[in-house]
Amino acid sequence: MTGNANQLGVHALVFTAGWSEPECRSAVEACAEAGFDLIEIPLLNPRSVDVSMTVQVLREFGRSATCSLGLSLETDISSEDPDAVRRGSALLLDAVAVARDVGATYLGGVIYSAMAKYTRGPTSAGRRNCVDTLRAVAARAAESGITVGLEAVNRYESNLINTGDAACALIDEIGASNVVLHLDSYHMNIEEGDLAAAIRRARHHLGYFHIGESNRGYLGTGTVEFQAIFNTLADIEYDGTITFESFSSAVISPEFAGALAVWRNLWTDGRDLAAHARSFIKGGLDVAQRRTLSPS
Ligand code: MN
Repeated sequence: MTGNANQLGVHALVFTAGWSEPECRSAVEACAEAGFDLIEIPLLNPRSVDVSMTVQVLREFGRSATCSLGLSLETDISSEDPDAVRRGSALLLDAVAVARDVGATYLGGVIYSAMAKYTRGPTSAGRRNCVDTLRAVAARAAESGITVGLEAVNRYESNLINTGDAACALIDEIGASNVVLHLDSYHMNIEEGDLAAAIRRARHHLGYFHIGESNRGYLGTGTVEFQAIFNTLADIEYDGTITFESFSSAVISPEFAGALAVWRNLWTDGRDLAAHARSFIKGGLDVAQRRTLSPS
């Protein structure tokens, strides 16, 4: 049985691009107003986050946080360039510290390679750098009770982990019990032949789930078969966090829009989008749960 067991979250970039006090307050307020339990805070520049302000605002609205980021080519731990690996390792350790200090128990994203379109495949030496670095990051995270999630993303955003299976193989190689698989329906829709089967195969490693539409806009306006996903999550008794993610250049910076290839706006009002997403996800989870309670 799932549904009521899952914490529901929303990505901060649905509401705001920055993390000044007014931006943080407005985003966390909007998160609470839409009925989400937690907000996912992007840590692209961890040291820029005002930790005590963030803790204060989260407390004010009674919400918790998760944290995520994507590495860049400059901080690519799957590179053969030791300087890039060193910079990436330092960035990830900074991110772990900030996650710990804002009270988050989850740090995930494209933290195993750059979040970028590669023009060649990964190398075995680069993969070794990635595994060694993530093993050290996971050990540091474990000291603070933080789970580390590897988000499988589509082929245009990484060359290393494009599927749940590929993520599970890397997780087994790292061999740390606090490293989990992070799936995202937007990316799965591009890379997985059968979303339900992919979730079932990954059930022992799955620890975080992003809900995003195929066009990254309003849920229900694209081609992702969400009810099949909710049903499968219920079937495997997934009790982890489910977070809504969507991007619009109405909110995010031109640089980030470029990195994510957001070339047109599918929405302008993040609060309306979030309220719709919350009821869409809750409704789908409730249907899935009723189905397991009264099989027909
Ligand atoms: Mn995602």
